[in-house]
Amino acid sequence: MTETLRGACLCGGVEYEVQDPEALGYCHCTRCQRWTGSSLAGVVVAEENFKFAKGEDLVNRYESEFAPRNFCSNCGSSLYDDLGGKYFVAAGLMRDLDLEPSFHLQVAYKASWHQIGDDAPQFAENPPA
Ligand SMILES: [Zn+2]
Ligand SMILES: [Zn+2]
Repeated sequence: MTETLRGACLCGGVEYEVQDPEALGYCHCTRCQRWTGSSLAGVVVAEENFKFAKGEDLVNRYESEFAPRNFCSNCGSSLYDDLGGKYFVAAGLMRDLDLEPSFHLQVAYKASWHQIGDDAPQFAENPPA
């Protein structure tokens, strides 16, 4: 079954659609913390399954060392982290998302005040390939 999720940024200027979300999980790395204000809850999606419905011209890209960060240039909403072939799409923008979290990455760098409250597997850095 093909599942389609719709997402929109804070100002509503950018809208997108995601097909076949693969997994929901958290990244606790310091880059995600600085980008979002806390950990990044994201949905793994194949690049070809992510399409802008509106406002692509508002999207700016911050070229970060590991994964370029795409965000709305009007309201600053974090949209997705480009992992190369896969996108890690910020979960909070998709109101109909109802996946259970299935991983925590980069837990070694987690903020001390962030308490993980689910039973999803935790990886100090990335999961073994
Ligand atoms: Zn926006
Ligand atoms: Zn991260």
